[in-house]
Amino acid sequence: MTNYIKSGIMGLCVADALGVPVEFMSRSSLKNDPVVGMRAYGTYNQPAGTWSDDTSMTLCLLDSLAGGLDYDDIMKKFRQWFDAGAYTPYEEVFDVGTATRKAINRYSTGKPARECGGKNEHDNGNGSLMRILPLLFYLQSRFGTELNREAFDIIHNVSSLTHAHQRSLIACGIYISIASAITAATELKTAIEQGTEKAMQYYRNQSEFTQEMQHYKRLESNGFAQLPEAEIKSSGYVVDTLEAALWCLLNTGNYRDCVLKAVNLGEDTDTVAAVAGGLAGLYYGYESIPSEWLDTIAKRDYILTLCENFADI
Ligand SMILES: [Mg+2]
Repeated sequence: MTNYIKSGIMGLCVADALGVPVEFMSRSSLKNDPVVGMRAYGTYNQPAGTWSDDTSMTLCLLDSLAGGLDYDDIMKKFRQWFDAGAYTPYEEVFDVGTATRKAINRYSTGKPARECGGKNEHDNGNGSLMRILPLLFYLQSRFGTELNREAFDIIHNVSSLTHAHQRSLIACGIYISIASAITAATELKTAIEQGTEKAMQYYRNQSEFTQEMQHYKRLESNGFAQLPEAEIKSSGYVVDTLEAALWCLLNTGNYRDCVLKAVNLGEDTDTVAAVAGGLAGLYYGYESIPSEWLDTIAKRDYILTLCENFADI
């Protein structure tokens, strides 16, 4: 378990840090000047190895789940991050999504944690997908690798803290289902197919989700991995981000190539890479993450300690 936690969390964090300096850059600009390693400065003028909100919110969830599942505590930790710079590299928040900011503000004005996430169609940014991975470790400690109804409900509740629309809930459900299939030690392509299919099967049988299923049709289609890059969008829309991340996993054979491909798709570089990197880390393992990248990561020992604390419990 310790290894999976370290591999997934650091896989996500390193990929986030690779994307931070070029966030919002277009794909065509990156074609001329592709990212090949850890860069400094750029979009947010941060030193190399600086990770962003994707990792910060992931660490909030990881740290909270170490004490058990408590939605209120997760929101409290999000607040500590947003208001006071906890769980950041340099006690400073330089990136936050709109839906996340609004949800934390609602919590600050006294709304119950479970009612804070936006429920509108335009609230479907990738802000809950990018931070959902730690839930895998909690769910496996409770239910094993098969996700039952209660497990899906918990995934949806944790997404809903900031992103409560069904489309975001499904994205998180598919992601955790794939992550779970990866830890069941199948080959990557098979794990992605099986994980996707299991989640889809679950959602098809839940009436409140059926009309949302059309948005995930491409993921299920046989030719998804073979789609040309031009048909893969790397925006902050949750469906685009999930598709782009999985497409990168399906079209590369190691951690390095996967996360660089994700970053070089452009636009929401850090989050597409973080979402891909979490699964790539899980599959290829911590040792597959280039050490020259790991060496730049801000507060690496702190992150590893949070991973170990979780594993101990
Ligand atoms: Mg970010």
